[in-house]
Amino acid sequence: MKKISVIVPMYNEEKVVELCYDRLTKILQGIKEYEYEIIAINDGSKDDTLEILENFAKQDIKLKILSFSRNFGHQAALTAGLKEVTGDVIVIIDADLQDPPELIPQMIKLWEQGNEVIYGKRKSRKGESHFKLLTAKIFYETLNALSDVEMPKDTGDFRLVDRKVVDVINSLPEHNKFLRGLFSWVGYNQVAFEYERQERIAGKTKYPLKKMLKLASDGIISFSTKPLKLVGGLGIISIVISICILIYALVSYIFKLNNLSAGWTSIMVSITFFAGIQLLSIWVMSEYIGRIYEETKQRPQYIIEKRINFN
Ligand code: UDP
Ligand code: MG
Repeated sequence: MKKISVIVPMYNEEKVVELCYDRLTKILQGIKEYEYEIIAINDGSKDDTLEILENFAKQDIKLKILSFSRNFGHQAALTAGLKEVTGDVIVIIDADLQDPPELIPQMIKLWEQGNEVIYGKRKSRKGESHFKLLTAKIFYETLNALSDVEMPKDTGDFRLVDRKVVDVINSLPEHNKFLRGLFSWVGYNQVAFEYERQERIAGKTKYPLKKMLKLASDGIISFSTKPLKLVGGLGIISIVISICILIYALVSYIFKLNNLSAGWTSIMVSITFFAGIQLLSIWVMSEYIGRIYEETKQRPQYIIEKRINFN
């Protein structure tokens, strides 16, 4: 019998764990032709998420738990889950049920028809602030403009993937994996699955602005070196501007258009302008160097403190 593995990352989700477990179990039990397992990753929650999960896991060996020693982040949690799955088809879903588990059977149908990656595409997003919608839009537009890989818009981590795609992702040596990007980068038969994104059933978003910015910069930097090339462009622009200033200075000197003290302004303007460009360029480069440094340390992306129901 074929098996479905469901990966659910959880960070301070005590308010939603029970509902999430119930709804997922109900749906998965309803798919009679398949066995299933649920892998919940407790990403260093500070509330009772782990205790609640453990209670369910005592009565249900299909619920497996990986618990991190601290909060390592959403992408790390998913990466850990992907390493442990034993199913033939893998579903990644958020704990807050914004992506309805009721869609899984339809996604399975698409998989049975030979699609290897079925990614959820949000037709609408209920209950999310204008700020979130706007930042998400800017993020996807920038990412696509900069990246060499086409990444579908309005797509999060909710997807159903074939085992062989997961094997490819697991075999990639990079540590800091930006999974949304990698899932489109791998290729294979991909198909979008449109759905209405629901409101969070309880609790608050675990993505404050700081984490969103981190995710966005990880996405851009791990999929594009264009920012580095843009730095070169800035250099050229600044050279052109400085030549213009030089010509202006010469012309005004020859034709005595200016008195001498006026030179002060142009010097100050050009010094601050070039200093700004240099600092900006160094910042862009250091973002890359910082990540190269992180990768060379070969430190694991997460530490698993506890494993439950794995044998
Ligand atoms: N999450 C996680 N670690 C984190 C942040 C989030 O495991 O550091 C989980 C969270 O519990 C949820 C999923 O990632 O299951 C998506 O987070 P959330 O719903 O808060 O993000 P949003 O839907 O608001 O973008
Ligand atoms: Mg959410």
